[in-house]
Amino acid sequence: MKVLKFGGTSVGSVKNMLHVKEVVDDGQPKVVVLSAMSGTTNMLIAIADSIQYSETNKAIESINRLHETYSETIEGLLINQSLSIKAKAYVNEVFNFLLQSTYKSYSHLLRNEILAQGELLSTFLFTCLLEQENIKVALLPALDFMRIDKTKEPDFFYIKKHLQALMETKSRSDIYITQGFICLDENGQVSNLQRGGSDYTATLIGAAINAKEVQIWTDIDGMHNNDPRYVEYTSPISNLSYDEAAELAYFGAKILHPQTVTPVRQDSIPVRLKNTMCPEAYGTLIDANAFESGIKAIAAKDNITAIKIKSARMLQAHGFLKKVFDVFETYETAIDMITTSEVAVSLTIDDDSSLDMIVKELEKFAVIEVDKNQSIVCLVGHSIVHHEDTFKLFQVLKDVKIRMISYGGSNNNISLLVPTSEKVTTLKNLQRYVFKLVS
Ligand code: ASP
Ligand code: MG
Repeated sequence: MKVLKFGGTSVGSVKNMLHVKEVVDDGQPKVVVLSAMSGTTNMLIAIADSIQYSETNKAIESINRLHETYSETIEGLLINQSLSIKAKAYVNEVFNFLLQSTYKSYSHLLRNEILAQGELLSTFLFTCLLEQENIKVALLPALDFMRIDKTKEPDFFYIKKHLQALMETKSRSDIYITQGFICLDENGQVSNLQRGGSDYTATLIGAAINAKEVQIWTDIDGMHNNDPRYVEYTSPISNLSYDEAAELAYFGAKILHPQTVTPVRQDSIPVRLKNTMCPEAYGTLIDANAFESGIKAIAAKDNITAIKIKSARMLQAHGFLKKVFDVFETYETAIDMITTSEVAVSLTIDDDSSLDMIVKELEKFAVIEVDKNQSIVCLVGHSIVHHEDTFKLFQVLKDVKIRMISYGGSNNNISLLVPTSEKVTTLKNLQRYVFKLVS
């Protein structure tokens, strides 16, 4: 069986949902994972924010506006009277819950419950659409099987057991539909797999049912070799290894949730990225093979903070790095890049929620400099550090002020830290130097 995940744009309008119906209705059994309709999760976040800051009128206004969008979607999607009535009743229930939420006292759980409504809505409506076409469809509530543990990692044993049991109870279905993104936490309360988490849902399901393939359907024909939002003439990459895809997803290629390939790499389940609007395009196939070496793709991750830790005591002393790392460990803050010299260590973090405390601790034994608004520009490809063309990337040194370079940490990744204001120039010039437009 295959798992097909469709992102927010793919289910973002009546027209696009009808398109997705065409793609999934090919007579093959499958699990379909859906995101919320595009814009919905952002809107739900805004509603939760308004509730948190006691802006009740603003919240109610947003809820009513969103309700209208869903009423219009039902009008366009469902001609069948009884299905249309059923869908309206469900949508009303959801929006009543949202309206009631504006009178509740704010909590993190309430936020998560509000955020969960997007995927609950899209899957309900899409299930009605398939019922209208007389397709044998079953809606599997993700909250009945998707769960994270107290370390916020997926509880894979639980997921597998409960998903398989649930599918057995609905074994006469051709298409199983479920919500991406949402899950329960270790206490059985509504939670989620973070923004973009539907990709992760899809591969967790793929691993749990030992799927033949996981397909991630979006609005672009695969992973591109640079960020198409900033750079012209980017092109899709046909093949990526799990390692390459994981590095790209982690370092900013927005198309995939950073954890997407984690569940499937061990069983070598292929992940295929496809374009809903252009199903005939090859897209990108991610599996255990790297095929060729050299730089395959460039991506950038923003909101990075660089911390320079300088100390004369570091000179020829052991134990200095341990002291530094212990501070980050205490504040549960992950380090992304690190470079060292004889008297200083520079490192980067993307979660700066404990920055003040970290700096205070480090200042007990070193001089600290903090640079915010940095971006990691990451070049990825099998064995790039050994490739004969890789030197070309260093031409970019003449265009931008590079704050740090990490080379050799892994054979597949070279990372540059630049001020975010220089990110686009860096991406554009790398595109010219690396992808042969300048030899
Ligand atoms: N709807 C969620 C988001 O916008 C999850 C997803 O689309 O993957 O982040
Ligand atoms: Mg996404």
